[in-house]
Amino acid sequence: MKLTRLLTLSTAVLALLVCGMVGHITHNAWRRYDATNAGLQALRLTHSAMVAAEKLSFERGPVNAVLGATGATVDPALRERLRVGRAITDLALLQLERELKMQGAARVAALQPLHTALAAARATVDQLAALPPPQRTPEKMQTAISQMFDLVPLALDAVTGYTLASERVYPRVSRALIRARYAVELREYAGRMGSTLTVALATRQPLTAEDHQQLQLLRGRIAQLRQQILSPGDHRGDDAALTAAMARVDDIALGAGQRLVAEVERDSRAGRPYAMDTNQFALRYVPTMTPILTLRDTLLHEAEQRAQKDHAHARRELWIAVLAGAAILLALTLLLLIVRRRVIVPLLHATRAVIRLGNGDYSRDPSGLQRNDEIGDMLRALSTLRNNSIERQQLELERQHLIEELRVRANTDYLTGILNRRAFASAGNQRLHAARAHNATLAVILFDLDHFKSVNDSHGHEAGDQALIGVTAVVRAELRDGEILARHGGEEFVVMPSHCTHEQARILAERLRVAIEREPLTLADGHILRVTASFGVASASGPTAALDSLLHAADLALYRAKRNGRNRVE
Ligand code: GH3
Ligand code: MG
Ligand code: MG
Repeated sequence: MKLTRLLTLSTAVLALLVCGMVGHITHNAWRRYDATNAGLQALRLTHSAMVAAEKLSFERGPVNAVLGATGATVDPALRERLRVGRAITDLALLQLERELKMQGAARVAALQPLHTALAAARATVDQLAALPPPQRTPEKMQTAISQMFDLVPLALDAVTGYTLASERVYPRVSRALIRARYAVELREYAGRMGSTLTVALATRQPLTAEDHQQLQLLRGRIAQLRQQILSPGDHRGDDAALTAAMARVDDIALGAGQRLVAEVERDSRAGRPYAMDTNQFALRYVPTMTPILTLRDTLLHEAEQRAQKDHAHARRELWIAVLAGAAILLALTLLLLIVRRRVIVPLLHATRAVIRLGNGDYSRDPSGLQRNDEIGDMLRALSTLRNNSIERQQLELERQHLIEELRVRANTDYLTGILNRRAFASAGNQRLHAARAHNATLAVILFDLDHFKSVNDSHGHEAGDQALIGVTAVVRAELRDGEILARHGGEEFVVMPSHCTHEQARILAERLRVAIEREPLTLADGHILRVTASFGVASASGPTAALDSLLHAADLALYRAKRNGRNRVE
């Protein structure tokens, strides 16, 4: 696999792994963040629902007062208190509705049963209040009061669907919500104790056995709830606010409040007239329940603080995960780019440069020689290699040139420039092999200048040389391309015609002889010289033909030509 591909592939795999890991961490962080957020929302929503429930409980105070009024007409002040109580409840419900709406329009539907029940309960109360006091029978009053009682769980139920879901994703909030609900129940049961006295106080009748039983039941439930709120493990000694709130509940709600109820009970048992009417009782009793609400709010506040801390922590973790992930991916991308730019690409250039050098292309230096890293070292080494190669190539060229020159010199006659005897032997043998292969006739013509010694003697050795050059030119001009002319010895030459019979060779020899005889040679000193030559022609064919024997036969013929008078062909 190519390095670039390998790098890209491994980086992609690495990036995928990192993405997966970062994604996983981010997802978890997001879930924690979302869960704490849901927990916070649940706390706020529960708080609003509890406040609404509390207002519904409070509304019972003025209801009891109105229904318990003994005058022929209800005191306008009592009616006003009821109106204000209802307005406060409606405001709390409006607030709850708004918060439910923020969690999705569908959540608001959860309030519908409460609205319906509230309207019905209020209608019952209004009908009863319109009746003269003697007609407000205990049964009718009981119905109205229990209708009011039933509203509280409905208010709490409206948010249960949401808070349950939140508790599932953020269980830490669960315990605080449960304890706050206990506090709400505590308030509710304390309220019911008061309401239980309403009918008796209003009708100035002793409490019925059922009333006593109900009060006993509520007392037991209240003691139980108090215990549950303080359940060991949850009550932290260092939480001063909670301890103080609980102490106030013990002191006021369970202390003074219960004492007030006990006072009415005592009067009822003793058959004494009550020391207060419903209104007076409500005015004294209702404030004793406020510490329970403070306790509820303290519990919720404590849970909210914890959830807020968790929320901030989760948000921090989420940011860290996202930023760390982005930083890792960025670093990875940068690394890839740097490796590509600084290693892979220069390596690719270097490889191309090496291939060029290998192919003998020294036209240019690899780029990047000025780099001061390891790649730069390698490129500089390549440049040195290139320079050395260029030098070696030049030396090789010179050597080739010299060899060629030597070869030419070794095969050429220095005076006439035609082939020497050695070169003729080699070229002649090649011709002979070819002729043998084609079963053709091969002829040689050997000729020797006549009385050449006397030329030297009369005109000097240099003039003899010029005469040799001149004769060479005359003969060369007579020959066709492919016909070999060589200097066989001092003033002796050999011709090897191509593809010709013995007779054709003889005719050629005759032509050459005439040409030499006719051509006047002009010497350097201006003298005109005429020379002749004697020719011996020999030919051979068939597989036994050999150059040596052919030359020997031609030599014999030449000797005969000399003997028979020179300037002739034999
Ligand atoms: P023949 O007709 O019998 O061949 O007589 P010849 O004088 O030509 O024969 P010989 O063999 O007696 O002499 C050959 C002469 O050729 C002797 C030599 O000085 C001359 N000669 C050979 N080579 C050269 C050369 O390269 N330059 C010159 N100037 N003379 C040469
Ligand atoms: Mg000779
Ligand atoms: Mg001679």
